[in-house]
Amino acid sequence: MNTGKLIVFSAPSGSGKTTIVKHLLTKDELQLDFSISATSRYQREGELNGKDYYFISATEFQQHISNNDFVEFEEVYKDNYYGTLKTELERIWALGKNVIFDIDVIGGLNIKKQYPDQTLAVFVSPPSVEELERRLRFRQTETDEKIQMRLEKAEREIAEAPKFDVILENHDLETAKQEAYQLIADYLKK
Ligand code: 5GP
Repeated sequence: MNTGKLIVFSAPSGSGKTTIVKHLLTKDELQLDFSISATSRYQREGELNGKDYYFISATEFQQHISNNDFVEFEEVYKDNYYGTLKTELERIWALGKNVIFDIDVIGGLNIKKQYPDQTLAVFVSPPSVEELERRLRFRQTETDEKIQMRLEKAEREIAEAPKFDVILENHDLETAKQEAYQLIADYLKK
């Protein structure tokens, strides 16, 4: 199969990576398509099955693991599994497009390891852990306990940032979006 390039965006939850990825997806000239992950976590209000994620049960997720259907998967938070299905990459490559991922740090590095010559791995860095906490609370999608879990994970993830090809600091969202666009446009020209 003719394989396109892989653009990985990883960051602690609340860093703005999802917004940046959505922005890049509006740019037709980049020929990007979003890698829709499978997950066993609950579906948030406003999320669509088959667009944001493939929402599946924990049992179905386990079945995919047994069938070796994943490029990578992880228990990102306790009892919440997330993974990239091989069929997802095939779907996007068959369209002649490049794949863009919004996945966690370990998953992102895992993709880079499997496809080293065709992956650009970008780490989106929040200004600080305090700011991250403020953003997560503002979003009002998680309980206090879950926010705490995400913040602890964030500190571990920030330590992995140097393993990425690029660190994109998100102090100001508009600037970060523009920088991300330039980075990807340059990479795809290579
Ligand atoms: P959320 O629950 O906020 O949608 O996502 C939680 C974390 O899981 C985020 O960091 C998100 O990027 C990550 N994630 C989403 N899909 C995947 C995936 O397929 N694999 C891995 N490893 N992480 C993922």
